[in-house]
Amino acid sequence: MTHFVIIGAGECGARAAFALREKGYDGEITLIGSETLVPYERPPLSKAGDEEAAGPKFIAKVERYAESGISLLTGITVQHLNPEAKSVTLSDGRAVAYDKVLLTTGARARMLQDIGVGSKHIRSLRTHADAVALRKVMVPGKHIVVIGGGFIGLELAATARALGTDVTVLEGLERVLKRGVPEEVAEVICERHSLEGVDIRCGVAIAAMKEEDERAVIQLADGNMIEADLVLVGIGATPNTELAVDAGLKIDNGIAVDEFLRTSAADIYAAGDCCSFPLAIYGGRRVRLESWRNAQEQGALAAANMMGLGEAVSAVPWFWSDQYDVTLQIAGLAEGAVRHLRRDLGDGAFILFHLDQAGRLLAASGIGRGNAVARDIRLAEMLIAVRAHPDPAALVASSVKLKSLLAA
Ligand SMILES: Cc1cc2nc3c(=O)[nH]c(=O)nc-3n(C[C@H](O)[C@H](O)[C@H](O)COP(=O)(O)OP(=O)(O)OC[C@H]3O[C@@H](n4cnc5c(N)ncnc54)[C@H](O)[C@@H]3O)c2cc1C
Repeated sequence: MTHFVIIGAGECGARAAFALREKGYDGEITLIGSETLVPYERPPLSKAGDEEAAGPKFIAKVERYAESGISLLTGITVQHLNPEAKSVTLSDGRAVAYDKVLLTTGARARMLQDIGVGSKHIRSLRTHADAVALRKVMVPGKHIVVIGGGFIGLELAATARALGTDVTVLEGLERVLKRGVPEEVAEVICERHSLEGVDIRCGVAIAAMKEEDERAVIQLADGNMIEADLVLVGIGATPNTELAVDAGLKIDNGIAVDEFLRTSAADIYAAGDCCSFPLAIYGGRRVRLESWRNAQEQGALAAANMMGLGEAVSAVPWFWSDQYDVTLQIAGLAEGAVRHLRRDLGDGAFILFHLDQAGRLLAASGIGRGNAVARDIRLAEMLIAVRAHPDPAALVASSVKLKSLLAA
């Protein structure tokens, strides 16, 4: 019987294991994860209010793994991957042989170099344990400083405000969400945070951080000091590539895979946050995505390719973020866009369409309350997938249904 081993029991690894069964693979499956919890969803960690709501929200009940014939090993780290011997070495000393292996090792939160990190009052947010530790400070009268105006930091800021905690956000660049969100959309988010009482400071450099009397003290480069009950460092994530590096696999902003999610070594695949892959719809440009839907889709795609089904990556990148009652959705990649057209959807909601020189729709960014932009972003995603060159006048006219552009 063949044995497929999946390293990393997060969103992508768990989805891949179930997808193998759904697609009819009848060999052995071992899913190995460092975390002690059964695989769970990460998005609620920054969005949900109290400790209970923050989860863990399990991807599947623990019984389902056994019922599906998936050997789930939690609290076990794979320490070594040997492509020649086709085996992995586990942290409990065992060696496990494989026929094919999938790396879904994800990413970890980046930390600031050389300034008092990893301490009780200076934390990051990637795991359920991180979320629980943060929730303990998210109460009225406490003050949290978020370093980095990215998605996770801003989502946590919104959640903390809803719980009555004071929040200051420190961003090094001139505005928040500089990576991946157009200014017009970022402004809406920034205004909403200000309205809710979040103190957002941009263009700020941090000189040092230390812990004093159960508090964190941040010294800014301009000489100002800020005290906090807790500092959340939200400055992005780094792919977990150590095993792949050790095994001699090609690395290029993550574990480099081809359109079938194959690494540079035979019978070794990678998927999700840990890998970079070529996107055919953008001329084969290599990207690494840190997104929930990408992790799900690539889990299923890796399963198909491990079974020899030969399915290439074709999905359009898609990402969402919830802050207060506002939802932001982005489909596609806007790099290379020269024209940005706005379609108003009412009640303050709008979508920006990003087009290249030739008028091809590259991406769409939408923001609005609740589900206001969901349907149109979905249609934009379909237009992007077919490499459409929609009529600019029709894109901005909210009276013209996007569906009609798809038919055209
Ligand atoms: C707080 C938070 C909020 C988010 N919100 C959104 C959102 O709103 N929208 C969105 O699109 N995306 C969001 N994301 C991103 C999304 O959750 C990730 O893209 C997704 O979890 C990636 O799945 P993955 O399986 O590739 O990696 P991960 O979920 O990181 O899982 C990888 C797993 O592998 C384990 N592992 C690593 N190395 C080893 C090893 N050697 N041996 C064994 N196990 C190992 C890790 O411990 C981890 O459990 C959010 C992420 C976070 C952290």
